[in-house]
Amino acid sequence: MPELPEVETTARGIAPHVEGQTVKQVIIRQPQLRWLVPENLNGTLTNLNIRLVSRRAKYLLFTTDVGTIILHLGMSGSLRILPEEKTADKHDHIDFIFNNGTLLRYNDPRRFGAVLWTTFPPAEHSLLKDLGPEPLLSDFDGNHLYQHSRKRTVPVKSFIMDSHIVVGVGNIYANEALFMAGIHPSRHAGKISLARYQRLAGCIKTVLQNAIQQGGTTLRNFVNEAGNPGYFKQQLRVYGRAGLPCIQCLQLLTEIRIANRSTVFCINCQH
Ligand SMILES: [Zn+2]
Repeated sequence: MPELPEVETTARGIAPHVEGQTVKQVIIRQPQLRWLVPENLNGTLTNLNIRLVSRRAKYLLFTTDVGTIILHLGMSGSLRILPEEKTADKHDHIDFIFNNGTLLRYNDPRRFGAVLWTTFPPAEHSLLKDLGPEPLLSDFDGNHLYQHSRKRTVPVKSFIMDSHIVVGVGNIYANEALFMAGIHPSRHAGKISLARYQRLAGCIKTVLQNAIQQGGTTLRNFVNEAGNPGYFKQQLRVYGRAGLPCIQCLQLLTEIRIANRSTVFCINCQH
């Protein structure tokens, strides 16, 4: 499933090909994604210029002068830049064709993704308005985590994965950041000190930044006609390593389930 670093990599990978381009045509082969794709999207977008490609949480935003396309990759969605004449394959549900002869193609085998249109500021859209801060921006810090966690008894891992608190900390990144910060994933969110939350916020930023940097090497895949673009393997310290030795102390890593998600940690290094 594309996580925040993959969505960020996607935004960076397609932006140079899409920003400043004018839409010639939108072809919708399959409108039934997570929500129905707006029927009149072709009429709405034709002749509009894509001013900016950006990301908010795991949503890609395509800004025009009159509104914004909100695109979510869901479980299995991907975007690719192709020449206009490239024939569509199975699961190629939507094509955005530009005047310069390039094509932005949305593929999604499981169809949990979304392509929506709004003429209001996207931050006010129902999908976006209640989201917490971006983890890589300065308004997300240890103080934010500390203030919002007081009296909370949820496990800290669930707390940092809650998109109302901070967006984009998926299961893998929560496991990795808690290991890096030396915090036990089951510890009650309300019992963690400000100093430890400051460390944790820094670790969340580092883990996500590292993933985005590693993703940078796959950017060429967005303009490659073969293969699956964008989703990358990373070097993980704990996630997927249950029963293997801790890289810091050689204790065998423990796996538990928190909120039914795999949680791997070191009983020596995390308290
Ligand atoms: Zn350890």
